[in-house]
Amino acid sequence: MKTLITNTLILPMTGEGHTIRGDIGIDGNQIVFVGKGDPAFGADRIIDGSRHLTMPSLVNAHTHLAMVLMRNFKDGLPTLQAWLDEIFPIEDTLTAEDIYIACRLGIAELIQSGVTTFCDMYFHPSATIQAVSESGIRANLGLTLFGDGESSRKRIAERQAELLAARCHPSGRITLSVAPHAIYTCTTETYQIAHRWAADHDALLHTHLSETKEEVDRCRASYGLTPLSYLRSIGVTDSVKCLFAHGVHLTDGEVDLLGDLDCAIVHNPSSNLKLNCGIAPVASYRRRGLTVALGTDGASSNNNLNMVEELHLASLLGRLGSSLSAYEAVSMATIDGARALGLQDRIGTLESGKEADLIMVGLDKAHLTPLNDPISAIAYSAQSSDVDTVICQGKILMENRRLTGYDIDELIATTNARWAAILQR
Ligand SMILES: [Zn+2]
Repeated sequence: MKTLITNTLILPMTGEGHTIRGDIGIDGNQIVFVGKGDPAFGADRIIDGSRHLTMPSLVNAHTHLAMVLMRNFKDGLPTLQAWLDEIFPIEDTLTAEDIYIACRLGIAELIQSGVTTFCDMYFHPSATIQAVSESGIRANLGLTLFGDGESSRKRIAERQAELLAARCHPSGRITLSVAPHAIYTCTTETYQIAHRWAADHDALLHTHLSETKEEVDRCRASYGLTPLSYLRSIGVTDSVKCLFAHGVHLTDGEVDLLGDLDCAIVHNPSSNLKLNCGIAPVASYRRRGLTVALGTDGASSNNNLNMVEELHLASLLGRLGSSLSAYEAVSMATIDGARALGLQDRIGTLESGKEADLIMVGLDKAHLTPLNDPISAIAYSAQSSDVDTVICQGKILMENRRLTGYDIDELIATTNARWAAILQR
C-alpha cells in the first residue's frame, strides 16, 4: 500500500524552526520522501493535507495502561503512599481478562490524542500483548517486578516466554523492558535480578525513581544513599539502558551521574502535581545533557492518557524559573521519547527511511488562528481533538477522528460493566 499526503505543512522535528510545505510519501510501513514529491510514486491512497499540520506521532514514555480502570477512583488522598495503599488491594484482584479490556480502552484513548508508542509497566503482560498486537499501535512492555528475589524469579519464570515471543512479532511493534516497580517496593536482590535480565535480553530497565521526597528520605535512612546512588552501588545502572520515571527530587550530584549513564528521565507532570510530588526541573536536566521524555503515568493518577494535554502542561511548567522552549517540549513528546526507548532510528522524526508513525493536526480552528508559529501552536494552543488522523507503520489507526480499529461505544460499555464486576469481588 502506497499513501501520499499532499501539500501539507510538515513539522519534521529534525531541527528547530524547520517546517516544510510539501508532500509525504509512505510505502508500506516506511516514509520514502518528505517535502518534494515524486511524480512516479503511484499512490494507492491520497490524503489532502492542505489544511493540516503533519508531524511525528507522540510517544507516551511512561504509563500503566490498564489503570484506566481506576480513573477518578480514590482521588484526593494526601500522599503517593496513601493512594497506593488504596490501589494495591484492587490491583491484587485483577485478572488477565480485566487487563485486556482495560488495555483496549486505553489504546483507543492514546490514539485519540495522537500517540502511537507507549511504554508500559503493569501485570498480566499476555493481556497487554494481545491488545497491542490487535491494535496496530507500538509498545515497550515491561516484565514488572515487585517484592523480594523469590517472587521476582517466580514472576520471570511465569512471564518471560510470552514477552520474548512478543518481541518476535513480525511487525516489530513490541519491544521489551524489565520493570522493577520502585526502590520502596523491591528488594536489592530484585533489582539485581532485573539488571541481569535486562543485560541478558538486551531490554530496557524501567523503574520509578525519586518521585517523592519521602522516597528519597526513606532510601537515605535504609541504605545511607540517595536512590540513584543506591541503584548505582548495587550495579543496576551498569551496561544497560535505563528509563527512570519521574526524577522529581534528584540532587545535583545525581544529575551529573545520570549524564554519564545510558538513560533517560520520563517527566510526568500531571501525576506529579496530582499526587503532590513536586515539579521536576526538566529544563535544567536538558541543559545538563540528559534525555527527557514525557509520559502520562497511569490514568488513575492523571486522570487521563491525553498526551496533547501532557505536552501543554509540560510546556507551561517548563517556563517556571527556567526556559524550556516550545521546540524542546515537543521534542520530549516525539524524538526524545523515541530516544528514551531506543527507537530513535525508527521513529520520532519525519524523514525518508523512518517508519511512518505520524499525525495530522487540523488547522481550521479558532484557537489555532492565525497560526504564526507552528511549534508554539502545538505546545501551547493545540487540543487533542485537533488530531484528526493517526498513522502507525503506514496503517491508519484514526481518520477524521474516527478510530478504524475500535467501536468506542462498545469499549466504554464493556469497561463499565467489567469495573462494576471488579467492585463486587
Ligand atoms: Zn508510574
